Amino acid sequence: MADDCIFCKIRDGEVPSDILSRNDHCFVIRDITPRAPTHLLVIPVQHFTYLTDLAPEFYATLGDMFSAAKEMAMREVGAGDGYRLVINQGDDAGQQVPHLHLHVLAGRTLGAMG
Ligand code: 5GP
Ligand code: ZN
Repeated sequence: MADDCIFCKIRDGEVPSDILSRNDHCFVIRDITPRAPTHLLVIPVQHFTYLTDLAPEFYATLGDMFSAAKEMAMREVGAGDGYRLVINQGDDAGQQVPHLHLHVLAGRTLGAMG
């Protein structure tokens, strides 16, 4: 892990944040700057900087992340109106926090991907 990683600090309780859900491989918090009425972050417990770092032996982590994302989206808004899952990978995607995470966006019409 990176010593100054904000998501590792939240995981370790060094920075307070409500943990909405947790399983063996990931935990879920609300984004501090929500871009939709529901904006969650699904974060792996283990520090991976980039999706592209993730070796196949850790793909179970991705499964747990998507499972948690789906469950949390269903809990927040139900299936009817939909939701969006996003991973920003690297500079061109605007990744700000260098600890892999999955955004869950819901609660409004999200518009076209750009
Ligand atoms: P990225 O651009 O890296 O895909 O997304 C990082 C997200 O983390 C941003 O949406 C940002 O608002 C959120 N974020 C950054 N610092 C914190 C924090 O300390 N707490 C929470 N809950 N979210 C954070
Ligand atoms: Zn980290």
